[in-house]
Amino acid sequence: MDFKDRDYDFMLKAIRQAEIAYSLGQLPIAAILVINNELIEKNNNSQAENKNYFSHAENILIQKKAKEIKSAHKSGKNIELFTTLEPCLQCFGSAVHNRLTRIIYACPDPIAGATNISPPTKWYKKRWPEIVQGPLTKESYELFMKYMEEHPEDWGSTIDDYKEMEKRL
Ligand SMILES: [Zn+2]
Repeated sequence: MDFKDRDYDFMLKAIRQAEIAYSLGQLPIAAILVINNELIEKNNNSQAENKNYFSHAENILIQKKAKEIKSAHKSGKNIELFTTLEPCLQCFGSAVHNRLTRIIYACPDPIAGATNISPPTKWYKKRWPEIVQGPLTKESYELFMKYMEEHPEDWGSTIDDYKEMEKRL
């Protein structure tokens, strides 16, 4: 299997998890942790249920598997996070601090996406993960947009920023 197919397959699993979240009334955003090609854990956003912003899919996933991630890092393993929406500053920070090696996100987030920042210090630069956009960008976008349009009161004018981004996808 070539590298591209492999990324597609893992991201498809993340999209499926986001669809489950959607069916439960949660934000349709999900993440998958992969260590040396093995799927370790899946998680979806649960902030609609928990009423707090710590409940982002990536953040909770990293926290839940922090021990495994630390030991994988010590053994020099490849630690990847597949997520359906570009991570925010908080989740990206969790990924950097926990020494993830690669972040793959399906859809850019024009509002809270934080992966295009530069490492603030040399210490961070040494730990900075590889960041990749795609695959399944449109699928992720459409699912998230469907949710936003069904809950316009939660999003206000940010929906327009996402719609504007669609032209560039
Ligand atoms: Zn986040």
